[in-house]
Amino acid sequence: MKTIGYAAQAATTPLAPFSFERRELRSNDVAMEVLYCGVCHSDLHTARNDWGWSTYPSVPGHEIVGRVTAVGSGVTRYKPGDSVAVGCMVDSCQKCDQCQKGEEQLCRLGNTQTYNGKDRVTGEPTFGGYAKHLVVREEFVLRVPAGLDPARTGPLLCAGITTYAPLRHWNVGPGTRVGVLGLGGLGHMAVKLAVGLGADVTVLSRRPDKQADALALGAHRLLVSADKDAMKKAKASFDVIIDTVPVKHDVTPYMPLLDIDGTFVIVGQLGPLAEISSMPMVSGRRRITGSLIGGIAQTQELLDFCAAKNILPDCEMIRMDQINEAFERMEKADVRYRFVIDMASLSPAGAG
Ligand code: NAP
Ligand code: ZN
Ligand code: ZN
Repeated sequence: MKTIGYAAQAATTPLAPFSFERRELRSNDVAMEVLYCGVCHSDLHTARNDWGWSTYPSVPGHEIVGRVTAVGSGVTRYKPGDSVAVGCMVDSCQKCDQCQKGEEQLCRLGNTQTYNGKDRVTGEPTFGGYAKHLVVREEFVLRVPAGLDPARTGPLLCAGITTYAPLRHWNVGPGTRVGVLGLGGLGHMAVKLAVGLGADVTVLSRRPDKQADALALGAHRLLVSADKDAMKKAKASFDVIIDTVPVKHDVTPYMPLLDIDGTFVIVGQLGPLAEISSMPMVSGRRRITGSLIGGIAQTQELLDFCAAKNILPDCEMIRMDQINEAFERMEKADVRYRFVIDMASLSPAGAG
C-alpha cells in the first residue's frame, strides 16, 4: 500500500514529505489509518543521529493512535473501525523467557523498534508513525479504552509507559516519596502517574518558573536543582528518583537526595554519565539503575489505568508541517508538555 509521511533524509536535513510503501497484510497484521502521533525526544535524537545508529530515510514516531482499516486473515482481536494504538515496538521473538514474561522490550533477540528497526521477516527498515498509514502485527497493537480521548492518548505509548514501568517495578504506591528529574514529556507523565499511584511527588527542575505547572500537574512541590540550600534540606528524603534528562549530565548532586536503599532510575540519557563517586551507593546502599519503555501487557494496563483515573498528557496539537519547528522548541525544553501531530493535516497533495 502506498502511503505518505515525513522523513529525515540525513542527520542534517529537516524532516520533509516522503512517499513510501507499507507492506501487504500478513495473516497476523493489522492495518490502520494514523490519526495522531506524539513527538518524543527520541524522535529528535534519531532524526539527528545523536546515538550514532540511525538509518535513512528515517520516519520517526512511536506514540501512535489510529483506526483499524483492515486485518489479516488470522487476526482475532481487532476489526475495522477499532480505536487502536502502537508504541515503541512492533515485533519481538515471542519465544524467549522475557517475551514469555511480557517483557518484549527486553527480548533476548532484541525487540523490533517501530522506526529505525528492521522487519523480522524481510529485513526492510521500519518506518514510524509520522505517516498516514501503519501495518503492525496484532500482538503489538493496543486497544484504546473508550474513556480515553484519542487525540491525547498517543504520549501514553512512550512517555507514559517509560515512566509507568519503573514506578511499578520499584513498587511506587501510597506514601512512596518520588522525585521526577526534568519536567518535559516523560517527566510530566511521571508526575501524573506517580500521583495517580498515590505517591508523594516532587519535581526536580532547573527552572523555578515551573512551580505553578508542577503543582497543576499534581506534584506536591518543586525543588530547583540549582538551589543549594533547598537541595541540602531535601537530603535523604526520596525513595525513588526518575531521571528523564535527555543529555549528558552530572547525577552526583541528586544522590544524597535518596534515602537509604533509595533508587535512582535513568530513563533519559543513553551513554556515558559524568564521573560519579561510589560514596553514596556504598554508604547508603543506594542504587542507580535504568529502564527501557515497557512490555505490551503493561502498556495495556497503563491505558486502562489512565482511562479509569482520567490521566492524560498535556498536549499541544501541531500540524505535520510544523514538526521541524516542534523539534527546535523541544531542544530548548520549550514544550508544555508534549507535541501531538494531528495526522489529518498531512494531505496527499502536500506530500509531493
Ligand atoms: P523532553 O520533553 O525534551 O524533556 C526533557 C526535560 O529534561 C526538559 O523538559 C528539561 O526539564 C530537562 N532538560 C533538558 N535539557 C536539559 C539539560 N541540558 N540539563 C538538565 N535538564 C535538561 O524529552 P522527553 O521526550 O521527555 O525525553 C527525555 C529523554 O528520555 C530523551 O533522551 C529520550 O530519548 C529518552 N527516552 C527514553 C526512553 C526509555 O525507554 N528509556 C523512552 C522514551 C524517551 P527542566 O526544564 O524541567 O529541567
Ligand atoms: Zn519515545
Ligand atoms: Zn524474545
